Amino acid sequence: MKIVKVETYPLFYPLSSPYGDANGLKKYRSCYVIKVITQSGYYGWGEVNDWLPAVDLLFRQRIIPYLIGKKANEHNAIVQVIHRWNKRCAAGVSMALTEILAQASGCNVTSLWGGVLRNEIPLYASFQSYCESIDWIDRSYRQVKKAIEAGFTIVKVKVGGKTLEEDAVHIRTLLAKLDCSIKWIIDANQSYDLASAKWWEQVFVDFPQFLWFEEPLPLTQVRYYRELHNHLSVAIAGGEDVTSSEQFISLLQEEAFDIIQPDVGHISSVFDYLHCLRLGRSFGVRTSSHSFDGAISRLYTIFAHACLPPWSKMKNENLEPIEWDMMDNPFSQLVSIKINEGNAVVPNGIGLGCEIDIDILKKFRWDGTSY
Ligand code: MG
Repeated sequence: MKIVKVETYPLFYPLSSPYGDANGLKKYRSCYVIKVITQSGYYGWGEVNDWLPAVDLLFRQRIIPYLIGKKANEHNAIVQVIHRWNKRCAAGVSMALTEILAQASGCNVTSLWGGVLRNEIPLYASFQSYCESIDWIDRSYRQVKKAIEAGFTIVKVKVGGKTLEEDAVHIRTLLAKLDCSIKWIIDANQSYDLASAKWWEQVFVDFPQFLWFEEPLPLTQVRYYRELHNHLSVAIAGGEDVTSSEQFISLLQEEAFDIIQPDVGHISSVFDYLHCLRLGRSFGVRTSSHSFDGAISRLYTIFAHACLPPWSKMKNENLEPIEWDMMDNPFSQLVSIKINEGNAVVPNGIGLGCEIDIDILKKFRWDGTSY
């Protein structure tokens, strides 16, 4: 189990047509993939989503020298140290060490967590609705329509980056023109004050198809989340940037959310991420993990949700769908996952149970200059 090598793949893809959300338009997508290799030949893939130059420097100068010679099964001790330098790097290493243990045990990652309870996980098609074009609403409509035609039945679109009126035209257009059986999520990326967030209730009452309203308010204003909760007729979700289970406990105690959204790449270890999912169960709220930032993270999300006991006795599996990046991003194809009518089929082979696309690692390797 001795770690002898760490390969790193900083990946960069400039967008020909920028897209975004209330936080602004993205001009590129990036991803930092690692492969940790042991003396006995077992290996594990991990992924870090943060600013490439900083992550690359930290791995080359500090994390790789630290990892070489360590035992891959000393997961807790290793992650605890890297966590102090960078939480997202710790998360990436945690993923890699988890796969090594699964490979060495001759089992799938899910077997380490007690085995799957479901073989398919419902997905929602996730969009970044804004672009530079003045006909952004029409462009958004065409993108969403295509996803629905491909079999997706749950869709997330963005609000909070335009005026309330313009965003409402966008949402009302989509809901009026597209299949009325589709479930909808709107995500404001914490951009509203309480009054603006309440304003949306007039749209929610016109359409019964909303699954949740995501992060309407800044997470620092937890007290207003509870007031909003009492005002709105839809569920409120959030927590994608939360970095520990400890932080989720205070949000859950404040009754901020109906649905928590931990992200395996934002929490320092796979174990703490799993703990967050269980916390949701303990507090009686739904869990729909955030997973926009990479294919390996998304695969771990699918594994974790496959092992999670049902939220309720209701037969509707679509209550806790997983995010599926629908935007122009080659890195979402890094891991091949079979999709069956809007559901991800949980891979069950040894380790991750699916291959990493080596051609993508070669083709989009960041040259260290452009940014
Ligand atoms: Mg979000």
